[in-house]
Amino acid sequence: KFISLEGGEGSGKTTAIHFIRQWLDDHNIPYIMTREPGGTPLAEEIRQLILSPRDERVNDVTELLLVFAARAQHLAEKIQPALDKGTWVISDRFLDSSYVYQGKARGGDIAMLDQLATWVVGESKPDATLLLDVPVELGQERVVLRQHQDRLDKESLAFHQKVRDGFLERAKADPKRVKVVDASQSLESVKKQIEDQLVQLNLA
Ligand code: C5P
Ligand code: MG
Repeated sequence: KFISLEGGEGSGKTTAIHFIRQWLDDHNIPYIMTREPGGTPLAEEIRQLILSPRDERVNDVTELLLVFAARAQHLAEKIQPALDKGTWVISDRFLDSSYVYQGKARGGDIAMLDQLATWVVGESKPDATLLLDVPVELGQERVVLRQHQDRLDKESLAFHQKVRDGFLERAKADPKRVKVVDASQSLESVKKQIEDQLVQLNLA
């Protein structure tokens, strides 16, 4: 099974990953954890270029192509080989992030995204996507407490609002795949919501 985890800044993806690991370990399910942009040495180098560029400004199309370049490598070198062996793949972000960050939030051309998605991802779409949804204000409160903030953590509230809206639109358009987790709830509740989804996916 291929699961992606999505959500805006401060939505608690790191904690969610911890819960997912626990559940998979408890069920003796073989899995790998990975992330985007990144996941392989080359793709991690591309991540550095995207998040800590030497250029002050990053051209939107450049960013979009870099994300997809990293994804092509990630799919070929890591995700597809694992899935072929029956290993579950959990990816911290995947294609939805491109539609939301490069598309919705930065105004990228959706037709171009669709073409790149067809070309680079094709049928290798996640079986399920867990969307950690949190109001922007709450997410920002969590982010400012962090030691390390990347270029995108420092975007405006309006940007983060577009990110949240964009993810919710993706969920609405594909409710069978994208499962919304209310990440503003208590940790126990978030854990329970995630486990319920994993149980369903394991049975499917
Ligand atoms: O998930 P994480 O917060 O570590 O992601 C790193 C950064 O990359 C985030 O700030 C996110 O906004 C950004 N990103 C992006 N486009 C993607 C994936 C991630 O701008 N397609
Ligand atoms: Mg971040």
